[in-house]
Amino acid sequence: MGNRRRLFARHHSIWLTLLAFAVSMGFGLVLFIELGTSYPAILMPPTRSEQVQAPPSIRVTQEVKPKVALKPLPKQQLQTSKLVSIPVQFQGTTFADVKLNSQDKAIALTFDDGPWPKSTEQILSILKQHNIKSTFFWIGQNVQNYPQLAQKVVADGQNVGNHTWHHWYRRMNEATAASEIERTAAVIFKTTGVRTLLFRPPGGLLHNGPADYAKTHQYGVVMWSVDSEDYDRPSVPRLVKNVLSRAKSGGIVLMHDGGGDRSHTVEALPLIIDALTKSGYRFVTVPELLEIKNKEQVALKDKSATTQRSAGGSSGCCFEQAQEHQSKGSGAGDQGNTGVRERQLFTNN
Ligand SMILES: [Zn+2]
Repeated sequence: MGNRRRLFARHHSIWLTLLAFAVSMGFGLVLFIELGTSYPAILMPPTRSEQVQAPPSIRVTQEVKPKVALKPLPKQQLQTSKLVSIPVQFQGTTFADVKLNSQDKAIALTFDDGPWPKSTEQILSILKQHNIKSTFFWIGQNVQNYPQLAQKVVADGQNVGNHTWHHWYRRMNEATAASEIERTAAVIFKTTGVRTLLFRPPGGLLHNGPADYAKTHQYGVVMWSVDSEDYDRPSVPRLVKNVLSRAKSGGIVLMHDGGGDRSHTVEALPLIIDALTKSGYRFVTVPELLEIKNKEQVALKDKSATTQRSAGGSSGCCFEQAQEHQSKGSGAGDQGNTGVRERQLFTNN
């Protein structure tokens, strides 16, 4: 009996050892799978150019407890779902500004990392006072945490873009990059009824996965030409100067309504708006800025077609142009007329 008990005690300890081994193997396997989907930043240091581009203080990687109770969007608002689209030639491309030929001093203000308590509403209120439309690039988990703020941004007529779910800087495989963007697109649609073709990569990183995924899915990858550097919380005069000294027609201004204390941005914004307005600028959304460029290009093509015709090139010159105009469909009102004129010209020939 005593022997049997000792034997059982010895076997018992073997079973416990085996059990502990199996549990630790299980944890190891889970960790391995996790690392397989997204490499930790420490294993994949950013390249030199990424280090230069990446604003150091914007890292929103922790889940934040919702401070605003989830209230579903009213049905009638969901029915009027809205597509934030961009001209075809900008889909699947990366741009930081547009070069405008005209004297139109159009500039696009953009606000990243929200929606965010307090500062998003403060910025909305300033924009409303000045009757300005801008573009907000949202972090998916912030939309989930602050749905009412997201709805307010859209209700105010502002444009929105996708800024990933976690705002990770790490290198991501395709599945993780896809999840970062699609999960955010889904929560934006569920919360506001908006589908957007605008994407801004966190930290402006173009080679860690999400930007490539966005480009292959028709998003325009929106960088910036005017960095306010507000993520470093410079003094208000410095912040204003950063924007004013870099502002140009066709520019895209980077600012932040979320991700931390944005009181300096809130304070600087009215000063920036006033100064740029006095210098003759008008404020547009990113899609509006791209549309201005698109119309300029169309007008330029029309002009060159007219020049060719008036130079006497009427023999067989216009078939391709007529087709081109016909295929453009909706656009500037006079564009369709030109198409009709050219079709008639071809028929007469
Ligand atoms: Zn950001």
